[in-house]
Order: sequence, then C-alpha cells, then structure tokens
Amino acid sequence: MIKTNNENDWNNWRWQLQNRITSLEELREYIHLTNEEIKYFKDVSEEYPFAVTPYYLSLVKDPKDLKDPIRLQIVPSLLEIDPVAQKNSHPNALNEEGFIKGLTHRYEDRALISVTSYCGVYCRHCMRKRIFKEGTHAIPKELLDIYFDYIKSHKNIKDVLISGGDPLTLDNERLKYILDNLSSIEHLEVIRIGSRVIVTLPQRLYDEDLLDILSKYDKLWINTHFNHPNEITKESKEAVLRLLKAGIPVNNQAVLLKDVNDEKETILELMRKLLSIKVKPQYLFHCDPITGAIHFKTSIEKGLEIMDYLRGRLSGFGIPTYAIDLPGGKGKVPLTPSHFKKLGNGYEFIAFDKSVVIIEE
Ligand code: SF4
Repeated sequence: MIKTNNENDWNNWRWQLQNRITSLEELREYIHLTNEEIKYFKDVSEEYPFAVTPYYLSLVKDPKDLKDPIRLQIVPSLLEIDPVAQKNSHPNALNEEGFIKGLTHRYEDRALISVTSYCGVYCRHCMRKRIFKEGTHAIPKELLDIYFDYIKSHKNIKDVLISGGDPLTLDNERLKYILDNLSSIEHLEVIRIGSRVIVTLPQRLYDEDLLDILSKYDKLWINTHFNHPNEITKESKEAVLRLLKAGIPVNNQAVLLKDVNDEKETILELMRKLLSIKVKPQYLFHCDPITGAIHFKTSIEKGLEIMDYLRGRLSGFGIPTYAIDLPGGKGKVPLTPSHFKKLGNGYEFIAFDKSVVIIEE
C-alpha cells in the first residue's frame, strides 16, 4: 500500500520526499522483482542511486508487469553495469561542463548551470547519471555566485537553463536566491528551469509560496520531461495548471527510450495528452550514448518512422522536433523524415497520405 490515507500528506511534497522508497526491501513490498533484479540491486544502486517518490511509484499499473513503462524508468537493472550492454558509451558523452564545474557554455547565446545533484526520482535513463556518483546535494552558494559572475561578464549570454539534478527540489529560499540573481542580469532574456517534478513529484507545485516566487519573474519558462502517456495524471495536470496561472509556460522534452515509449501509438498518445494539459511538445530526443543508460537507445530509423506517423495525425504545434545531441559537445541536430527531393525543374514532395506531389519552379 503506497498511498497514505491522509490526503494532506499525499499532497505534500515534503511528505513525498520524506517517504521516498530507497531500499530493495521497501521496493519489494510494492512491485514484483525478478531474481536478477534482487541479486544485483545493491551493485547497481551503489553505482547509480535508487529513489522513487510514493506518487511516481503509484503510477506502475500492474506490480507484476516487467514491461510497465514507469517501472522501466525506476527499477535498477543489471544492464546499467554490464560492460557488454554499455559498450560504446561514455559517462559524459555530450562533453558537458567547461572550466567551471557545473557550468556549460557551449552555444554563444546560452549557458547551462547545474544547481543541485538531488532528484525526487533517479531515472534509470538519466543523461547526467555521472553526477550522482559524487553525492546528491545542493550546489554551495559560493559556486552559484561564480556562475552569476560568469554570466554577468558574458553579455552574449541571453538564455540560461537552470538544471541539475532537479532544481525544483531545492527549497524556496535557495530558488529565490538563484532567480533573483539571474533576473537582475539585464542582458538575460530567457531563464529556463529544467525540472521533472511535474512528472515525478507534482505536489511540489501545490506549494503556494513557491508559485508566488515563480510568478515574480517574467523571463521564466519551465522545461519538463514526460516520456509516457501514463505519466499524465490529474496531479500532473493540476501542477501544469498552477504554473500556467502563475504565468509560466511549460514545454516538454521527451526522450525516445527502448521498450518505454518507442511505439508510434505511444508517442502519438503522449503528444495528444500533453496538448490536452497545455504542455507544448518541444523535443523528442534520441537517447544519448551515456554509460549506465545506453541500453535504452533505439535506432534513428525507428525515431524517424514515429515522426512520420505523427504527421497528418496531429496538428503541427503538437509535433515535437526529433533531435540528436551530437557526441563531444557538437550540439543538437534535428532529425527529419525526408519528405521531398530536388528534381531538375522543381521538387517532389511526399504528402501525409503518401501520395507524390510535384511542384515545378
Ligand atoms: S529527474 Fe532529470 S536529472 Fe533527475 S534523474 Fe530524472 S532525468 Fe536525471
């Protein structure tokens, strides 16, 4: 029984964090684990931490279903530490971080700062799994101040992504400190928070004091990370609604994950449901070759097939950009199904019903 009968507790984000499931014994009370999962739980979770909120665990529909998409995102798997399964991976495949720890300034006009290495749930597919090895904690104020000074002195930076870990697991006072400092930098035009609490701990957005703080910053956006339609619930809908009422737009960046969501109908349903709760599908990322997570990778062909399927079945603003983050910090590249080719005197297009249309120039 994951749920408490006390609704106030269930809707309280601190209760959710204080009652996280963090051990094998607790997890076994709620879902069936295979002998292999039980045997290697300690080895895997020592390498990459395990924790899940009661709320997110409650989204597992059938405790016996080994293919449940929520289960796959939370239960430690032997594949994470299997050298064969992790072949051709790298802990920091995207070459994040420069000469200041926790700060990435790759694109001329954008910077990313990591403000915590704590998350409500440790997703097994996380692209930053490497950072949790150093412990899960908030970044000290002294280091935050170094980030602010760097951004202040680089007037070309217009857009900052506050990342982690999950920044919205920080307490209100620390968040206000970060947002006050960033919003006082005049040349910054956009401040984004990358957070998965809407998905894994929506109760965080039931905190009126937090909403009051967030509503004060007119440059603020939230990027979140729904991967499966089963993650869209009345609680996550409520969390989004509260953010929208506070004037904060919410975009989604999903990742294409083997067995979790690599089916056409699953992605179509996800995008439809996102629109129904007023979240804009922004990206569908191809899974990065990260050590500990590469076993979630699908083929690019599969991703292109799914994108092709969405066309004609979903209005344009519901179709995300399918993109790959190139290894070595070479940046994002959109992956688009090819719908046209150049002819001698014009172009040949493939329409959504697969008919060929020629336009002469
Ligand atoms: S919430 Fe985000 S940063 Fe945290 S483990 Fe999940 S994917 Fe990684």
